[in-house]
Amino acid sequence: MQYLKTIYAGITSTFTGMKITSRHLFVKKVTIQYPDQKFTMPERARNRLTLEMSKCNGCNSCVVACPVNCIEIDTVRVSPEDPHQEVHFNGKDRKMWVTRYEIDFAKCCYCGLCVAACPSDAVTHSVEYEYSVYNRDSLLYKFQTLTPEQVKEKERLYAEFKAKEKTVKPTEKGAE
Ligand code: SF4
Ligand code: SF4
Repeated sequence: MQYLKTIYAGITSTFTGMKITSRHLFVKKVTIQYPDQKFTMPERARNRLTLEMSKCNGCNSCVVACPVNCIEIDTVRVSPEDPHQEVHFNGKDRKMWVTRYEIDFAKCCYCGLCVAACPSDAVTHSVEYEYSVYNRDSLLYKFQTLTPEQVKEKERLYAEFKAKEKTVKPTEKGAE
């Protein structure tokens, strides 16, 4: 009797499994044939970051917000004597030149905190999510647009302005 019960249980469990499997033959597929087929990413997906340099004012908020320290920036103040004064995208004068802006995507955890912290929407998530590389160094993205020569020029202009300021002040005091 036990022998027959075991056979019955085997047959019924097989049919139960087959029933579940055959039901799934007719449901909508949730997988796609990546990379031949591409998934349409949601509008707010946290893909690779991108930077609109003209909007960046070098405020450092993204650097402070980043929990893994993968953003590094250098800035130099804009000298009032700089012949290339720039009106910032929000209508104000640019106060800082951003001479270096680097994000190391080997460290980035795509938390989006830098995006939330940026006051000018300069750093945002892009639509790019396929950027695997063989060399980790290739994941260090450099966004600065000033050339090394331009950076030296900006630093020189500001240093000269500061030096001039120092020499002018004692004379002003004497005049008082
Ligand atoms: S997404 Fe997060 S981890 Fe990546 S750079 Fe921004 S703050 Fe840092
Ligand atoms: S990207 Fe935004 S938060 Fe970062 S330095 Fe530029 S303006 Fe500031």
